[in-house]
Amino acid sequence: MSGLLKSEDSRLEPRIRVLRNHPVDMSGDFVVYWMTATRRYRYNAALERAVEISLSIDKPLLIVEGVSVRHRWTSERVVTFMVQGLVENISVFRDLPVSYMPWVENHKDPGDGLLRRISKRSAAMVIDDYPTYLPLWVMKRAEETTSVRLEAVDSTGILPMQMSEKEFATAHSFRRYMQKNLLRAFESSPKAMPLEGVETDLTVDPAKLSEILEEVNFEHTPLEWMWRVAQGRSIGRKALAPLDIDHEVQSVPTKIGGPSEARRRLDSFLINRLGRYDVGRNDTDDGAASGLSPWIHFGHISPYEILHAILEREGWTPADLDEDSTGRGSRAGWWGLTASSEAFIDQLITWRELGYNFAFHRDDHHSIKSIPDWAKNTLHDHAEDRAEAYTFEQIEAAETEDEVWNAAQRQLKEEGLIHNYLRMLWGKRIL
Ligand SMILES: Cc1cc2nc3c(=O)[nH]c(=O)nc-3n(C[C@H](O)[C@H](O)[C@H](O)COP(=O)(O)OP(=O)(O)OC[C@H]3O[C@@H](n4cnc5c(N)ncnc54)[C@H](O)[C@@H]3O)c2cc1C
Repeated sequence: MSGLLKSEDSRLEPRIRVLRNHPVDMSGDFVVYWMTATRRYRYNAALERAVEISLSIDKPLLIVEGVSVRHRWTSERVVTFMVQGLVENISVFRDLPVSYMPWVENHKDPGDGLLRRISKRSAAMVIDDYPTYLPLWVMKRAEETTSVRLEAVDSTGILPMQMSEKEFATAHSFRRYMQKNLLRAFESSPKAMPLEGVETDLTVDPAKLSEILEEVNFEHTPLEWMWRVAQGRSIGRKALAPLDIDHEVQSVPTKIGGPSEARRRLDSFLINRLGRYDVGRNDTDDGAASGLSPWIHFGHISPYEILHAILEREGWTPADLDEDSTGRGSRAGWWGLTASSEAFIDQLITWRELGYNFAFHRDDHHSIKSIPDWAKNTLHDHAEDRAEAYTFEQIEAAETEDEVWNAAQRQLKEEGLIHNYLRMLWGKRIL
């Protein structure tokens, strides 16, 4: 043991933010990784950093993956999808030399209370760095309530969020920034398998763990209950019935959460649709989109895994980049890949990370007040344009006069997503 591997000495340094700069507490029983957004083993920078810390201070590693049921958009659909991932993670981590504890919050015992109690027994904590919604709230609570060293680690995108000093107002400006910094960002890319080559057993002694969990009043989520929820349909519905969540938004049998389903869908996309993505992305009948957004959103697959798969298929190396146009922000031609792969990567990196970048730099990102003045002015100028006005109930029930809009809304309700092109129409009509 050589003492804590400092964040500045870690390969992952661009992805680490030290939220509480305490020395590690060597009397603590373990290092804790509180998994809130990167709900997977593979390509997980926070897990990789937690392993680094554990090895450097010679403490075992406890991973806690919690599912919250107390947020605004909690529903059967969301909880089922997340629990499906959790059930898969149980079997993934069972074969790895770390301890993993799945937990579904209940209304008696909120997650931040548990986090605080477990932190008291830990030597140091790592949490996912995520710039919005619930994982952001949990991260802030962790910062306020933990008394040990706390690091937030970012696995959100290809570019570490803190690498940029400001938010970007346009995709073009983000693309320019991305082109200048991509290779630097690659240096801190998470490993595909964060525990590969680790020979030390980092599991927490089971007897000791049970004792500690009892002391901190940890209420185990029964495995059988999670299994039932993961079945979805009527079995899942029955299991979820006691929870105070939205029961009208039900799980979608064709959308199963979890890393292996995400990978299966990625492989199918690579073989069947990527090759025509540039021309077929907006086709609503036989579309070429990946359909991966729910799995990316819930952290079941990493953008790095997707990017690597594409680059590998094309036999890409950094030498293929068009150095002369680096930083010019051109949408096509810079990567030196096929047009369809470049079109897809532009969505996966530029468009996706533009939003995360904005959220990271702007505390008011969730508010309409954060939109630029030109957008505010346009909205104001056209506020009276709309002849028809619908009630919230009509909108929710897809009962407008626009049949295409209604179809998009029905798809959202029944299948849990809207085709990517129709989303724009859906969004514009809402505005
Ligand atoms: C009104 C509106 C609402 C949207 N709501 C969501 C949402 O709730 N969740 C969500 O993930 N995306 C959302 N998007 C962005 C985009 O439409 C979806 O990410 C995309 O349609 C998802 O389908 P896909 O996975 O097949 O995308 P693909 O075309 O296969 O793209 C691959 C990935 O790139 C990213 N991406 C693609 N297009 C965009 C985009 N325009 N902006 C940001 N990232 C993008 C996504 O991570 C996506 O999964 C919304 C867009 C609009 C206009």
